[in-house]
Amino acid sequence: MQGFGSAPALKASQSLVRPLVRELHAYVPGEQPKIKGLIKLNTNENPYPPSSRVLKAVKAAVDGRLRLYPNPTAQLLREKLAKLHRCKPDNIIVGNGSDELLAMAVRAFVEPKSGARGARDSEIVQYFHPSYSLYPVLADIHGAAKNAVSLDANFGLPNLKRGGRWNFHAALSFVTTPNAPSGHGYSLKELDRLCRATKGVVMLDEAYVDFAAENALQLALKHSHVLVARTFSKAYSLCFQRVGYFVGHPELIAALDKIRDSYNVNGLGQVAALATLEDLAYYRANFRKVISTREGLSRELTKLGFRVLPSQTNFILAKPPGNVLPASRRQKLQKQNRRQDGGGTLTAPAWLQRLREKKILVRWFNQPEVKDYLRITIGTSAEAQALVRAVKNILQ
Ligand code: PMP
Repeated sequence: MQGFGSAPALKASQSLVRPLVRELHAYVPGEQPKIKGLIKLNTNENPYPPSSRVLKAVKAAVDGRLRLYPNPTAQLLREKLAKLHRCKPDNIIVGNGSDELLAMAVRAFVEPKSGARGARDSEIVQYFHPSYSLYPVLADIHGAAKNAVSLDANFGLPNLKRGGRWNFHAALSFVTTPNAPSGHGYSLKELDRLCRATKGVVMLDEAYVDFAAENALQLALKHSHVLVARTFSKAYSLCFQRVGYFVGHPELIAALDKIRDSYNVNGLGQVAALATLEDLAYYRANFRKVISTREGLSRELTKLGFRVLPSQTNFILAKPPGNVLPASRRQKLQKQNRRQDGGGTLTAPAWLQRLREKKILVRWFNQPEVKDYLRITIGTSAEAQALVRAVKNILQ
């Protein structure tokens, strides 16, 4: 009998998988290492715990009711969110994290590619580059065409009329606003202009908007082709529970609802999100703390020679100084042929490694536009101080 590991068996089982899936490069999430004492600044999680009311509500819900299905449409949560955003429950769909809803949007609004040559507008998923790296993966999973349009050199929106790369009729356009991984914020006015000019569905992904100066939620209630994506993960300290939602025109929401899994949002997630909305003052105080730490850390790192981009999110994109040693010492090392990460210069991935050795985990993306930068999640002010100490230590 052939063992499962043997070559012919492996080949046969591979042939059972659709070619599209065989070729697929899956999304790579940030690491979740379990290292004691690690300062984890790599996945944009909130450093503050959920409100005590949320913890209490979740604990109270853990009883015999776990045997029952949760509300299939997250009805109470949609009602409460509708009140918060001054719209109707029909304007809202809740998902198992906003990631689930982003995938559903591709399935609901975009046709898979029909031919080998030249994609039609109806088959195009469009997004700015760099932005959330899940979008191209979602397009690939669906077999849709992709149109990645470069942001300008400062990660601002490019002039869309000039250059002609933006497809105003693409079936679905994703806009991460504020942008990730740069933290760059976009004004309501420029987003409105983009939405008006674009005829397909526009998804304004506002995962980090609670840390920004303004949001564009009103555009989803004003334009029938615009959806806004929000999540409880980042600003509301609820990554673990997986709750996100879209706001938009009832027709688009109803289309998404048709393809939704019957019980897509787990019961404890619904309980946690509802309790979150009961204690918004607690979270708003946390936003202020994160913003203040972000500004302080940006100033400190700038003083130490980093180029820190202005951020409207709970992370910063920072280009570390290349030369970490004084020129004289560098020359001496080079003479002795003792190259240290390139003779006294540290690349961004080398910084990542150095910080990791000091038990501080940040993120580095191997993409041309950002490969010289580190993305640093804003933690507590104590964590920011520890990071500054570690950086000073490395620079010495
Ligand atoms: N949008 C952006 C831009 C994100 O960075 C993330 C988190 N990685 C999400 C959406 C998804 O968030 P969640 O699925 O946790 O709601």
